[in-house]
Amino acid sequence: MKYATLFLIGLLLSVALLSDAQKQSGKTKGKSKNKVLQRAVPCSSAKCKLPDCRCSDATLPRPKFKGKENEIPQFVTITFDDAVNAVNYAQYELLFNGVSNPDGCPATGTFFLSHEYTDYVRVNALYNAGHEIALHSVTHGDGTDYWRVADVETIEREFGQQLKMLERFAKVNPKSVQGMRLPFLQISGNNTFEAVKNLGLTYDSSWPTQQHKDPAMWPYTLDYLSIQDCQIGPCPDAALPSVWVNPMVTWTDTEGYSCSMIDACVYPPADNVDALFDWMLENFNRHYQGNRAPFGMYLHAAWFSRGRNYFAAFKKFMQHLTTYPDVYMTGVSHMLEYVKKPVLGKPFKECEKKPNSTCLPVNCNVQKVSTGEVRYMSACDKCPTVYPWLNNPLGEDM
Ligand SMILES: [Zn+2]
Repeated sequence: MKYATLFLIGLLLSVALLSDAQKQSGKTKGKSKNKVLQRAVPCSSAKCKLPDCRCSDATLPRPKFKGKENEIPQFVTITFDDAVNAVNYAQYELLFNGVSNPDGCPATGTFFLSHEYTDYVRVNALYNAGHEIALHSVTHGDGTDYWRVADVETIEREFGQQLKMLERFAKVNPKSVQGMRLPFLQISGNNTFEAVKNLGLTYDSSWPTQQHKDPAMWPYTLDYLSIQDCQIGPCPDAALPSVWVNPMVTWTDTEGYSCSMIDACVYPPADNVDALFDWMLENFNRHYQGNRAPFGMYLHAAWFSRGRNYFAAFKKFMQHLTTYPDVYMTGVSHMLEYVKKPVLGKPFKECEKKPNSTCLPVNCNVQKVSTGEVRYMSACDKCPTVYPWLNNPLGEDM
């Protein structure tokens, strides 16, 4: 009896040890698949050179622009996150239609698209109008925890499959998609930026800075260690060559608090056009009268419904921007082209070529498999069989 018990304990112990060993080897196997990342070292401008490398502490596009700050073109990047639908599409049209930059090219913005409730026919229209289409994940996740701990594979799946959906349902050329923004701006250290690289994208624009708003931070690459303050960690510390960070330079609200997105400002001014307009101008002037770092206007269309005058004030401010001889409203990726090859004066030789992507609109009622609900979805050319989702981005019959 005694021996039998001992034997049994021994057996259990060896099974436990064996399975532990298997787990261990599984872990190493998983890790060895990815290259080991090198820790980033402080940036030196002698080694890090444009167009593919830029130090995070460089406060001007080129050192020799010092003293000529007012000849640096001022970029304004207007970005909207989340689903594009019929309601906000109408607002986007009202904002941008007929607005042009000093070079005569149309003013454009960037749309960070998440999948659910997105109207892909309207995405196609924004794309054809010359706007930048970028990624904001398939599911948008449940909350910040999902994204904080997300490994490279999860991020690649979420953003890579959203790219597939945009290609299939909105007829967006995947090569034109260059950037991403994490839901809730929740990055997961090096993983986020490794995924940017693996997905063949150019930049991420999820990382806010409060410390570098005056002088404001210019976009930079992760070849070397970033000096950016880490507001929503974990932040990257590995050397990730040629991966661009478009820092979200925060605004200041009326109480002096920093906000990474306009709609995150806790104390905006009173709900009247002049007060809102003056506040936007004040934030803009920190850039325009400073080192001319790109001025980000980051928001969700829902902000326009927060006050009676929010939309009118935003429109008035955009109209005001068109009165400057050196202010350019472009998508983030177009602005980055300038940062890679900066000049004084006119930033570009010619206008961006608009895509000409034909879309035959179809209206689809398809079932969301996980919940059984029927979802309305408009798409180009052909309806999916079921509502597209993570791990079935084309909505195929599984
Ligand atoms: Zn979002």
